[in-house]
Amino acid sequence: MRGAQTADAVVVGGGTVGGWCAWFLRRAGLARVVLVERALLGRGASSRAAGMVRAQGGTPWAVRLGMWTQDFYRTQREQIGVDSGFVAQGYLMPAFSEPQVEEAKARVAMQAGLGLEVSWLNVEEADALIPAMAPRRHLGGSYAPGDGYIDPPRNVAAYTAACLRDGVEVLEGTDFLGLRRAATGGVAAVETSKGPIPTGRVVLTGGPDLSDVGTRAGTRIASGGARHQVAVTEPDPRLAPDQVKMAFDLAEGIYWRPEDGGLLFGMSNPLEPPGPAKEIDWGYLDKIRRRLADLLPATEGLELRRVWAATIDFTPDHLPILGPALDEDGAVVAGVTVASAGGHGMMWGPAVARIAADLAIAGSSAVLDVSDLGLDRFDQDGLSRLPPDPIALPFPERTIAP
Ligand SMILES: Cc1cc2nc3c(=O)[nH]c(=O)nc-3n(C[C@H](O)[C@H](O)[C@H](O)COP(=O)(O)OP(=O)(O)OC[C@H]3O[C@@H](n4cnc5c(N)ncnc54)[C@H](O)[C@@H]3O)c2cc1C
Repeated sequence: MRGAQTADAVVVGGGTVGGWCAWFLRRAGLARVVLVERALLGRGASSRAAGMVRAQGGTPWAVRLGMWTQDFYRTQREQIGVDSGFVAQGYLMPAFSEPQVEEAKARVAMQAGLGLEVSWLNVEEADALIPAMAPRRHLGGSYAPGDGYIDPPRNVAAYTAACLRDGVEVLEGTDFLGLRRAATGGVAAVETSKGPIPTGRVVLTGGPDLSDVGTRAGTRIASGGARHQVAVTEPDPRLAPDQVKMAFDLAEGIYWRPEDGGLLFGMSNPLEPPGPAKEIDWGYLDKIRRRLADLLPATEGLELRRVWAATIDFTPDHLPILGPALDEDGAVVAGVTVASAGGHGMMWGPAVARIAADLAIAGSSAVLDVSDLGLDRFDQDGLSRLPPDPIALPFPERTIAP
């Protein structure tokens, strides 16, 4: 294959993290960047996402990743000629108990301190913002007017166009098989189903399959996959964008946003063990619809025009993974960087991709100090020494069932 020539970098996985990372590496001036994708670009989680883009995170890392990513989406067309369809619709996070109110107010202070435009709305203000919501159903909520959503398939189209236009070599239908190590301990080549690609610089991504990618590379990665479901109702004027802002019922793990005149809503079942999504869980969908109808009465009885289940990536602490690959003794594998958005690839993906590119080139990134976010935070059982980010779907806390 043409891969017999040395590449300046090889990126494994053509989702939003790998796709944008390959483009950032090329944009940084690397002459030959190869993107290796087993199937088609975007065929993993990235084309199946709901597109929620939120900077209201539960840790300073999450807030910064979200803010950087939103700046990227906002200026994409002007800067690079393609966009991901970002709409800053505004995002409410309602609280349903006094402890949630206290936690949310503390988060607003932390987020505002980092420069995010966010405020606490009392119940009347929040109800006025979302006329479709049943009145006085919550105790108020935090609101960020700049949070919004992207169109996930359009984002795949955007990084595909950017990569092809700017000279990233895209190898679809090419399985990553492993790494060939150099005598010095670093990496000498990437082994693929179409032959080896000599290189001294590799970025490993893989979304829900990242742990398998890691196994092939000889590095243990605490990352898993779990079923996540999304549905879109038929159009209804009571759910028009001026009637419904985006929202996240954190305790129940349900979020929503407007879509094509109806409502898109997504959900994860906190009681479900990890594993790939093979089918729709209609029973759980019905349960969630009852909660949804309680909060947004207009959704009751509406037909669904689309429902899908797909495997979402997650990390045990709901934080990204950004750092060097480690071998079985815990030693750094020089030249190999691991990148995961931990199930937040729409809201953090471009920032995670940019940081991974920076780490691959320079070993650090001006976007964010990620020295605590590497693989060395996980123990042998894949448990993290960091407290989980409290603002996430109810992801499992283990990557494999105990
Ligand atoms: C239903 C659903 C809804 C979601 N909603 C949201 C949301 O609203 N907001 C949000 O922020 N996030 C959301 N997410 C999460 C988000 O989609 C992911 O975090 C993100 O897409 C991960 O991007 P990625 O590039 O890491 O992985 P992927 O997009 O999964 O890409 C990984 C790629 O690696 C390839 N690959 C795997 N193994 C190999 C191999 N051996 N060789 C070569 N290639 C390989 C795969 O084929 C795949 O294309 C959602 C996910 C799902 C499933």
